[in-house]
Amino acid sequence: MSTTPVAFERHDERFDIAGDDYLECLFSDGRWTEGPVYIPSGRYLLFSDIPNDRLMRWDETDGSVSVFRSPAGYTNGHTLDRQGRLVSCEQGERRVTRTELDGSVTVLADRWRGKRFNSPNDVVVSGDGAVWFTDPPYGILSDYEGHRAEPEIEGCHVYRVDPGSGEVERVADDFSRPNGLAFSPDERTLYVDDTARGHIRAFSVDGGSLGGGGEFAKVPAGNPDGLRVDVRGRVWAAAADVFCFDPDGTHLGTLPIPQPAVSNLVFGGPKRNRLFVTATNSVYSILLNTNGAWRL
Ligand code: MG
Repeated sequence: MSTTPVAFERHDERFDIAGDDYLECLFSDGRWTEGPVYIPSGRYLLFSDIPNDRLMRWDETDGSVSVFRSPAGYTNGHTLDRQGRLVSCEQGERRVTRTELDGSVTVLADRWRGKRFNSPNDVVVSGDGAVWFTDPPYGILSDYEGHRAEPEIEGCHVYRVDPGSGEVERVADDFSRPNGLAFSPDERTLYVDDTARGHIRAFSVDGGSLGGGGEFAKVPAGNPDGLRVDVRGRVWAAAADVFCFDPDGTHLGTLPIPQPAVSNLVFGGPKRNRLFVTATNSVYSILLNTNGAWRL
């Protein structure tokens, strides 16, 4: 494991994040890493290496990296549900799946009104068990991140799988390229970024439907991708670097990442105070003085 010195950039006096003064590089042998999710019961991190069509496993107990699943349906984003089961966006299969505790795979969503999705990108599960995901076209634009195909659904939208009926509902239809999404700790706000428009939007959550959706923040550089929220409701966004925003939308600070593009991030470790970052071909981690919100 190699390390790189790193210094947080403070953009607002309220920014009080500190931690290691170096980044650990856990892996640098991918093509385009994405979809990190930490599995507390096993103390390991899973992440996608999308163009290589493999889901990787980094073991926190010994630092080893192995292939967890390949082929992997060109998986992109991941999360865990309330029961600790892995939920995956499979760009290649154009669906959202759940890996059961016995290892079998259940399809949660592969169509809306009879039409196949573009390529589900990122996913989060709310406390009621509903599965919320975004559907930009990155997995069907070329064979690089999936399989080139024509879209069946007009536009790129945000969807919700109802925990009771399993029905898939469209909950937002005015995005260009919806991508990362995360709930505030009280789950009253859902943040969703629009990669093409360079900003993060904030929706009010009312049961299974969304309201509002105005701009929460623009990312200072790069294209917004994955999002996570910490225990104090601060929004952490992956773009050119990792940007931290106050719940009021102020850009508080930046964690510089030594790669051209940052795709995603997740809080993990037994105390959820270790930030894992996927960026270009690599995966980094840094121990922080804050903790991720419980909802992944
Ligand atoms: Mg993404």
